[in-house]
Amino acid sequence: MAEDFKRPDHERLVWRGVVEEYRSFLPVDENTPVITLGEGRTPLIYAPELSSLKSADVYLKYEGGNPTGSFKDRGMTLAISKAAEEGSQTVVCASTGNTSASAAAYAAKAGMTCAVLIPEGYIALGKLAQALIYGAKVMQVKGNFDQALQIVRELGEHSSKITVVNSINPYRIEGQKTGAFEIVDTLGVVPDYHFIPVGNAGNITAYWKGYKEYLKRGITASAPKMMGFQAAGAAPIVLGHVVEHPETVATAIRIGNPASWENAMQARDESGGAISSVTDGEILEAYRFLAAKESVFCEPASAASVAGLLKTEVKRGSVVVCVLTGHGLKDPDAAISQISVPEAVDATYDAICRELGV
Ligand SMILES: *Cc1c(COP(=O)(O)O)cnc(C)c1O
Repeated sequence: MAEDFKRPDHERLVWRGVVEEYRSFLPVDENTPVITLGEGRTPLIYAPELSSLKSADVYLKYEGGNPTGSFKDRGMTLAISKAAEEGSQTVVCASTGNTSASAAAYAAKAGMTCAVLIPEGYIALGKLAQALIYGAKVMQVKGNFDQALQIVRELGEHSSKITVVNSINPYRIEGQKTGAFEIVDTLGVVPDYHFIPVGNAGNITAYWKGYKEYLKRGITASAPKMMGFQAAGAAPIVLGHVVEHPETVATAIRIGNPASWENAMQARDESGGAISSVTDGEILEAYRFLAAKESVFCEPASAASVAGLLKTEVKRGSVVVCVLTGHGLKDPDAAISQISVPEAVDATYDAICRELGV
């Protein structure tokens, strides 16, 4: 009988999204309509091959497990919730892809109009498909991300009815800091090192903010060294100057003038970490390694964190977390360019045996 059935530990199976789960850390109150798709609680995967290579305990925070396939959902749930609270009907963003996919999904959930500006020809196919299918108005701009963001900033300044949901929107950073909370909550310890790709630098800023807040509230007693990695062809923070024409296969971090530049340097300096660069070759090597050796398929930009780890010396026995920011299926072209697509074989038992060598 139904009333006799008690699901064991039922409450712990229900995850209400990052805003409800971490409400006391976020700028929300009873007037905030929470727009959620159940984001967060992404897998923290132990990586035995990387661990043995580095003589450390290496974990992968797989943000491809979010509803739209990237970490952007953590910030978008809060940004769209606050936009709804403020009565906004339209949200707009410039995007290298994942922000637009996430904004389009959460705006649709909230019943809002979403407009996205993307750099023509430099957006991964999966991301473009997402923005379109969620119903966003997508405009391909004949320029790069930095130019698109400039236009979006102007739109936001000239109309109070339009909310900008790029990471210059402070709620994005607030929501994204929940990634740090989850890592600590899941591991039960604070990692010694936190490796992360750096594009617009919102995420490194957010993680550092999250770690610091746990520290301030006495939940933790330390914080990790923040180890950020830019692509060599788009490494303004490493070079110390704006890169006019950023180039990299890792389209999600193809950014020459990061919005959170100062904050990223602060995270680096306060934590005793570093921001360095990895070449496209190193990124793609880590990308293939992750899929083949750890069975984790991420997009190229995500692999920048692991590419960084592979060439960084970490203390023996330390706990290392690498954030894998987005799902591999976001960018199918990148995967296919790394392999050779097999030719068709005759549909016979013998032909298949010949191919298999059995
Ligand atoms: C947005 C994004 C990044 C870069 O994050 P920033 O906050 O801009 O530094 C890295 N990887 C993926 C998959 C992304 O979508």
